[in-house]
Amino acid sequence: MTVFEGYRVQHNLSSGPSKGGIRFHQHVTLGEVAALAMWMSWKCSLVGLPYGGAKGGVIVNPNDLSLNELEHLSRRYMQEMVNFLGPHIDVAAPGVGTNERIMGWMMDTYSNHIGHVSPAIVTGKPIALGGSQGRRGATGAGVAYLVKKYLDDLKIPINATTVAIQGFGNVGSETALSLGDYGAKIIAISDYTGAYYNPKGIDVRQALNYVQFQKTLRDFDGGEAITNEQLLELTCTVLVPAALERVITDQNAAKLKCRVLAEAANGPTTNAADKIIEARGDIEIIPDVLCNSGGVIVSYFEWLQNLSNFYWGREEVITKLFGILDQAKAAVDAQQAKFQFSRRLAALTLGIQRVADAKAARGLFP
Ligand code: NAD
Repeated sequence: MTVFEGYRVQHNLSSGPSKGGIRFHQHVTLGEVAALAMWMSWKCSLVGLPYGGAKGGVIVNPNDLSLNELEHLSRRYMQEMVNFLGPHIDVAAPGVGTNERIMGWMMDTYSNHIGHVSPAIVTGKPIALGGSQGRRGATGAGVAYLVKKYLDDLKIPINATTVAIQGFGNVGSETALSLGDYGAKIIAISDYTGAYYNPKGIDVRQALNYVQFQKTLRDFDGGEAITNEQLLELTCTVLVPAALERVITDQNAAKLKCRVLAEAANGPTTNAADKIIEARGDIEIIPDVLCNSGGVIVSYFEWLQNLSNFYWGREEVITKLFGILDQAKAAVDAQQAKFQFSRRLAALTLGIQRVADAKAARGLFP
């Protein structure tokens, strides 16, 4: 028998239930989970969702487990969390290393425990269990939509745009598909096994088929093999880190050759790197709390549909998603123009201010 250590951190409970994904990864730490929970608070607040932030994690490499073991681990995690989670307390979702199927097992475990079906306990579920249309691709669709909007602001035509993407999981692959559909050329993709570069453009659907059967991009022949470090330093219009935190550091920030850095991952840029990029002044950052917010926005839609038992079509989901992203982008741009500071600071100050306002308005119960 093996015992795995896992966590759940609820960061802010003032504005509604807390909300956040569950990560299965061998490098999970309590500090990392807490940081991700805090980011969720600012993100939900920035885009106007009635949620606080939360995050969960288990120290495990899911690739080392059989399907049966993965199911046991997922169910046991939810079993341990039954007293702390709830549709009006704390709502879970997929994250790195977890997926729709795992959310289905967790929803089933919670529902069995309380004695009735409770789809609103997790989002990112299979459609058959009350998942939302458009949820699987929501984060990537949102990243691509915002990239296109910022390219429009910079007057760079999308069909003259080259894109390098680190990470080819849910977010990376869906961003690649959506940006490809807009007309951008995806020149590099990667996963933890390596990176692939093709200046003529990677066939993203071919890469997805490859991963479906081979599990990873290892030995993918749709491009020249390079390293993940080389990918980050490629000449491209848009660089999309869509894997893990702290990949843009003070070691490589000065070497980036992109015009737009779209932070699809949470926390891909260290503070030191952020300062270097700001001093350079030639790279537009779309900060993580704005850039990848499409996922939690459609998770919110899923939760609403579960609570009302009334389900929406894909078009409705996507139209409402883009509407919220437009509002959030406009608010961030206005904040940046007003205070003349970075876009990251604009996004964070807006998110933090709204949480502070909610806390102040509630006051302290004596
Ligand atoms: P995922 O597990 O589906 O995919 C992660 C990808 O990153 C995989 O392709 C993996 O091989 C790759 N990877 C891992 N380590 C790597 C490394 N060292 N170098 C290169 N590639 C590496 O996870 P995901 O859901 O796509 O999440 C990716 C990022 O997006 C995370 O930072 C996550 O917190 C963030 N995010 C996800 C969502 C969502 O809806 N899934 C929403 C918001 C933010």
